[in-house]
Amino acid sequence: MMTIKDIREGLSQKEFSALELAERFLNTIEKKDKELHAFINTTPELAKEQAKEIDKKVANKEDLPILAGVPCSIKDAILVDEVKCTAGSKMLENYTAPYDATVITKMKEAGAVILGKTNLDEFSMGTSTENSAFGVTKNPHDTTRVAGGSSGGSAAAVASEESVAALGGDTGGSIRLPASFCGVVGLKPTYGAVSRYGIIAMASSLDQIGPLANTVEDCEIVFNTIRGKDPLDSTSVEIPASAKASAGKQNPKIGIPKEFFGKGLDAKVKKVVMAAIKKFQEHGSEIVEISLPRVEQGLAIYYIINTSEVSSNLARFDGMRYGLSEQKDNLLKTYLATKGKGFGAEVKRRIMLGTYALSSGYYDAYYIKAQKIRTLLKQDFDNAFEKVDVIMGPVAPFPAFKIGEKTDPLSMYLADIYTVSINLAGLPGISIPAGEAENLPVGLQIIGKPYEEQTLFEMGKTFESL
Ligand code: GLN
Repeated sequence: MMTIKDIREGLSQKEFSALELAERFLNTIEKKDKELHAFINTTPELAKEQAKEIDKKVANKEDLPILAGVPCSIKDAILVDEVKCTAGSKMLENYTAPYDATVITKMKEAGAVILGKTNLDEFSMGTSTENSAFGVTKNPHDTTRVAGGSSGGSAAAVASEESVAALGGDTGGSIRLPASFCGVVGLKPTYGAVSRYGIIAMASSLDQIGPLANTVEDCEIVFNTIRGKDPLDSTSVEIPASAKASAGKQNPKIGIPKEFFGKGLDAKVKKVVMAAIKKFQEHGSEIVEISLPRVEQGLAIYYIINTSEVSSNLARFDGMRYGLSEQKDNLLKTYLATKGKGFGAEVKRRIMLGTYALSSGYYDAYYIKAQKIRTLLKQDFDNAFEKVDVIMGPVAPFPAFKIGEKTDPLSMYLADIYTVSINLAGLPGISIPAGEAENLPVGLQIIGKPYEEQTLFEMGKTFESL
């Protein structure tokens, strides 16, 4: 396994050139991805061009930017200028991005080498990449199983060493869950910590872009590259200096929510997660049992707010402006034909559910009620964080499941039980590989106070060293 530091050293010691490294990774993709299908499109031209720029800097003895030559892959919901961006949907099968997302501008400035665009559930709706219009991504640890989703391609690309780091998006767990299933590190940043300008929106009050990598340190480096206020995204902010409060504490106090360890949690996953928490305890952290009572309503609230926002965000795919257009003899028929052909079953389901929840007569009973409970849920976390520095628990109730195993949408939604509340409350959460259950990776989730990503990195690095 290669880290960002290894690449930096290798380039400055002239062990390899950035171009050689890019070619090596592109060859690995060529070999492995026929089976894994982590990528929807690769971008060899772009990668080589970027690598050559880095090699010029090396030749001129210039200072190398932080991600110089690092082979990266990007979830195919994030726009890379002049590269196709499908969002995993037939609707955008032939859509080419007209500009770079802010995170891509930052990655490019930092010298990253972009290898390609990774597979995802259609418009990021799902937990397994089985909702992608372009085929499922297989788990590198067991190819009969899913890689998780929706950023499953990004997680599989990192786990199989097809890339060193990746960007994903997390609206209700889509970075942390595939990270857990594939045995890599994945961070969902605090709401607002990273600009979303140039990500194809699913649910705007929940979406965040974040990094996946093989080590906590690499995840931290990528996060520090992409974070920060962006005038193009009014929800983005600079991380306040005061947010370093718990970082640097010798042994942060850990809260264990009893609601995260109840029925539905696979016994083998529970064992791995408890063993990980015990290691922190042995290292000197105090462990406190806490309660987050509204977490039990988390899934219900999430799937009302998510679908409501989906129904409004996806209205733009009308056959007039982006991608697929099925022209008929009147506007309504054009809408119906385009959406009917372009969207898959899960997307249609969510648009219908969300439209229902927002319709007059039901708005108060569903949408407004969900928003009220969301506020109470956030208060549960605020109360808990008065007593503890971080919260720990599982990422998913089970390890990676078999491809095709979950046939009804509700059983798929249940996989999100430990992740969605963190998005609803806008908090940062990281999944770090904690161990294995029957040879399948299991992630530990560490949840922090707003803007305390640094605490999560420090605890993650401590765990890696134990
Ligand atoms: N699995 C969740 C959903 O389907 C989360 C998706 C995401 O975070 N993009 O909505």
